[in-house]
Amino acid sequence: MNAHTMQSAAVLGSGTMGNGIAQVLAQTGLSVCLYDIAQPQLAKALQTIQANLDKGVEKGKVTAADRDAAMGRLRVSTDLMEAVKGVDVVIEAVPEKLQLKQEIFQQLGTHLGPQVLLATNTSSLSISRIAAVTPHPERVVGMHFFNPVHIMELVEVVEADKSSSAAVEAAMALSTRMGKDPIRVKDAPGFASSRLGIAIGLEAMRMVQEGVASPADIDKAMVLGYGFPMGPLQLTDLVGLDVRLNIAEYLYKELGDRFLAPEILREKVAKGELGKKSGKGFYEWK
Ligand code: NAD
Repeated sequence: MNAHTMQSAAVLGSGTMGNGIAQVLAQTGLSVCLYDIAQPQLAKALQTIQANLDKGVEKGKVTAADRDAAMGRLRVSTDLMEAVKGVDVVIEAVPEKLQLKQEIFQQLGTHLGPQVLLATNTSSLSISRIAAVTPHPERVVGMHFFNPVHIMELVEVVEADKSSSAAVEAAMALSTRMGKDPIRVKDAPGFASSRLGIAIGLEAMRMVQEGVASPADIDKAMVLGYGFPMGPLQLTDLVGLDVRLNIAEYLYKELGDRFLAPEILREKVAKGELGKKSGKGFYEWK
């Protein structure tokens, strides 16, 4: 399990995070298979990656040759076993549902040898519980990337109860190879980042619900008053309201009332107001 010699990867789930992770892995020189159950999502993911790389070329951050080489290293599949065949590392980025992730890790564990690093991009779920269903749980770790993946430098590498130091070190080294700046965290609910980020996000939503101020003004308060690069409500729109609701529900179960999701969040998710990806959340997106 040597991150420096890894040549191929599979990324499971081609949504907001999956397409970003696949892009950066391809830019790092790995051949990447992006897997999803939904073919239209895969087509959309390839368009998003192409657009991100085109923007990089426009800004002079990526050469046209590197963009084309990265696109050439990407393929897509709707067949899980075909997607992961022969890969050195799998990074899972399907929706934040424990049972779904466990089903996938069980299949991966049964079909892939113990030398394959298995990582989940979960924002908050217990890596130990995901790993528990897998033969050779020692090769399972969390690799928690941030949105947008091609820009954000942080990766939380999460060490589960049974993760081997070889797996944790491989995930740290792979993150560095991808140009990221990883931190090593124990498997506690919400890790180092989501727990605090969600607490601030939920409080900002309660303030909107109570009419304390508009979303734009609450965000402005944190940007101008506290030096946040982006307000918590705008961030929620970028992350996805459904994603944040799932995390809040999980942290509520694990850590109690302080993570109870506000009614406004539940209502918006029920109406399909999921943030930027659906055109509306706490803001309107064109
Ligand atoms: P998303 O809803 O944008 O994408 C999920 C993708 O998974 C969709 O393309 C969907 O078609 C696909 N999918 C659904 N069921 C599947 C299955 N059984 N097999 C394969 N693919 C399936 O979600 P996202 O925001 O990319 O989040 C994915 C994971 O990353 C979650 O665990 C989330 O908590 C975590 N995460 C999200 C963010 C963020 O900012 N959005 C940040 C860090 C981590």
